[in-house]
Amino acid sequence: MSLIQKLSPEFRQRCEAIATEQRSLLRLRAFEPLPADILANQLGAKLLTPDQMPNLEAKQMALLLASDEWSAAIVGYSPLCIVCNPRHAPTRRESNLMHEIAHVLLTHQPVNFDSITRQPKRQQHQEDEATYLGGCLQIPKRGLLWATQCKMGLARISEYFSASEAMVQFRSNVTDVPVK
Ligand SMILES: [Zn+2]
Repeated sequence: MSLIQKLSPEFRQRCEAIATEQRSLLRLRAFEPLPADILANQLGAKLLTPDQMPNLEAKQMALLLASDEWSAAIVGYSPLCIVCNPRHAPTRRESNLMHEIAHVLLTHQPVNFDSITRQPKRQQHQEDEATYLGGCLQIPKRGLLWATQCKMGLARISEYFSASEAMVQFRSNVTDVPVK
């Protein structure tokens, strides 16, 4: 089942509303880019790389710094701390960070860490919701409509929203806003 088949139209509508609301709190218009760093800052989140994490064993830190297998994770709630993989491209970092911020905005309960693998135990429905809202935060439907009305193509839209072309294509598919 695709992501949009798993999420209700009401939920998807709510995500668009959250993307607009967060922009208006920052005095940005609904179609303007919202950098994840600015949104994180607005939410009082501290952004860390593994070498900045307190209480992390040297071995674990070295593993995280050398791996592409993880993207980002919430490692503290008060204050809010998000660790990001510094190896990933800026567009990927942007979507990773928006995904984690989406968990916060949707008030998802903290996930437990598996004591053996040290990976978060994911609840798939919450992951789907965070992925969808993360995409909306990066490229709201109103932003995509505005961009296409300005005759922007895929590459230009991706640059404008600091999003990967795959993300622009995904948002085009789920919002039914055709992008050339
Ligand atoms: Zn997640």
